[in-house]
Amino acid sequence: MKNIVLFGAPGCGKGTQAQRLRDHYGIDHVSTGEVIREHIRRGTELGRSMETCIAQGKLVPDEVVIGMIGDYVVTHKEGAGCIFDGFPRTTVQAEAFDGMLTGHGLKVDVMIDIQVPEEELVRRILLRGKESGRTDDASEEVVRGRLEVYRAQTAVVSDFYAAQGKYAVVDGMGTMEEVFERIVAVIDGLKK
Ligand code: ADP
Repeated sequence: MKNIVLFGAPGCGKGTQAQRLRDHYGIDHVSTGEVIREHIRRGTELGRSMETCIAQGKLVPDEVVIGMIGDYVVTHKEGAGCIFDGFPRTTVQAEAFDGMLTGHGLKVDVMIDIQVPEEELVRRILLRGKESGRTDDASEEVVRGRLEVYRAQTAVVSDFYAAQGKYAVVDGMGTMEEVFERIVAVIDGLKK
C-alpha cells in the first residue's frame, strides 16, 4: 500500500492532481475538504457544527478531521493505497496520523508539496469560486485569510515529514499535465 500526502496552499492544485493520480495508480483519493463539504450538504450534526468554520476560512478542530481519517484508515487498511489531500494540515494531525498508521503496520511513503506563488493562488481560487459556488472561495478577504492560516499552522507540517526524509517539492506552475508529470516522477522514484 502506498500512502501519499499531497500538500500545498489552498489553490495549489492538490484536488485536481489527486484525482488524476487516483486514476493513474488505481489507488484511493481522500480529501478532508470534500468529506467536510459532504457533511454540510447532507446537513448532518457534524456538518452544521463546521459550517461557520469553513465559511470563515478557519481550520476545523483537529479531533474532528483526525476522527474522519481514523475511520477511513480502519476501513481501508487492506487497500492498495491512498492519496491524502488536505490532511494532515497541522502538526497535531500529522502526529496522530503517524500513530494510527503505525498501529496498522502502515506508513506515509512521501509528502509532495506543490508550490505556487501567492498571487497565482489568489487568482486561481477566486476564479474557482465563480464556478463552484464554494463559500470559502468567493471573497478575497477569506481567501487571503486561508493563506494566512496555511502559513501560520500548516506550512510547518512539511518539517515533520522532512525530518523523516519523506518530503519532496514540486513546482506547481505550468500546465496541469506538466505538474502531473513532475508528481509522477517523484512517486515512481520511490523505493518499492
Ligand atoms: P483548500 O485546499 O482549497 O483550502 P480544501 O477543500 O482542502 O480546500 O479545504 C477546505 C476547508 O476545509 C479548509 O479551509 C478547512 O476549513 C477545512 N479543512 C479541510 N481539511 C482540513 C484539515 N485537515 N484540518 C482542518 N480543517 C480542514
